[in-house]
Amino acid sequence: MTESKHSPGRHFLQIPGPSNVPDRILRAMAAPVVDHRGPEFPKLTHRVQEKLAAVFKTSQPVIIYPASGTGGWESALLNTLSPGDKVLAFETGHFATLWKNVAEKLGLEVDFVPGDWRHGIDSKTVRKELDADPNGEIKAVLAVHTETSTGINSGISAIREAIDSVLHPALFMVDAVSSLACSDYRHDEWKVDVTVSASQKGLMLPPGLAFNAVSDKAIETSKKSTAKHSYWRWDEMLTNNARGYFPYTPGTNLLYGLDEALNMLNEEGLDNVIARHARHAQATRIAVDAWGLENLCLNENEYSNSTTAVMMPDGFDADELRLKIFERFNMSLGMGLGKVKGSVFRIGHIGDFNDLMLAGTLSGVEMGLSIAGVPHNKGGVQAALEYLAK
Ligand SMILES: *Cc1c(COP(=O)(O)O)cnc(C)c1O
Repeated sequence: MTESKHSPGRHFLQIPGPSNVPDRILRAMAAPVVDHRGPEFPKLTHRVQEKLAAVFKTSQPVIIYPASGTGGWESALLNTLSPGDKVLAFETGHFATLWKNVAEKLGLEVDFVPGDWRHGIDSKTVRKELDADPNGEIKAVLAVHTETSTGINSGISAIREAIDSVLHPALFMVDAVSSLACSDYRHDEWKVDVTVSASQKGLMLPPGLAFNAVSDKAIETSKKSTAKHSYWRWDEMLTNNARGYFPYTPGTNLLYGLDEALNMLNEEGLDNVIARHARHAQATRIAVDAWGLENLCLNENEYSNSTTAVMMPDGFDADELRLKIFERFNMSLGMGLGKVKGSVFRIGHIGDFNDLMLAGTLSGVEMGLSIAGVPHNKGGVQAALEYLAK
């Protein structure tokens, strides 16, 4: 065969975010830019905010920034805390480590509980750490709901219970970047003070929007923060948003896309969306088991709905496998990040996704394992198809 410059068909973007953007959303964004200070704009702001709050399951405001998820982390910390404040965080994987790094760069003192990257946060450890802080020096507890680097969820309601069980006053901040609209998430019910999320995972949008869902307690605490910052200020966002505007130019066309994404989630029904993610995650695990490969997640109660991290047999490199699959089948799989680089690959089953897309994805993986000479059993795809057809 001669070298071809064109790959026919659609690229399979099976990384756990950015996820595939549905045509409906692309079309919604392909519209003229409007005056974000004009008389019509507040309708869009209010409509999007109302529908977005329903996805976070909150009656409080959700602040929208033109930023990546990392900006959402930074704004959560800057608005509520002051340099030198102590925070408690847990090494569940790469994203937890990155959020910890942001906190340190902002001058916070992070108590970072080590982890093995194969388990979520143990709520008993949360309780123990907070119990050992009778003077309330810990100002915030940071938890990543879906640790996208490992495909492992931490139990957010159990962490809330642990905080309450010792009557600790710390703020509770949760990264729900890759769990929102994929796993059950309840900002108000779980009394989360700041939920950080972003546009490019379960919300099916391109990267470019970051969110902070807040609580009354978080807003009250923000009034006492001495951290210096400007772009991220909640007070200016909240006063402008109340009138339907933003303190600076919002990502107008991403907001059109968000409006459409929220319509799509409502049409399918949020519970159905979450059940669909759970089903695709289960089918993926069935395939991985049948291949005889190991899931990085060791606790079956902590499986992520968004992504599955698959361990390579000893002596085989995940990035070589991913490259072969990319070149041969035009599919991108998630790489191993940080400590698990090269030893795992991740299958993303997140966002706008259906049974046949999963069937294609798993087929690409199974063929790729053969081509790369990775020892495995045949029949993973078949086992997943039988589950999906039930
Ligand atoms: C994707 C992701 C982020 C955000 O990353 P950005 O690249 O800054 O958008 C944060 N946390 C988790 C768990 C993620 O999956």
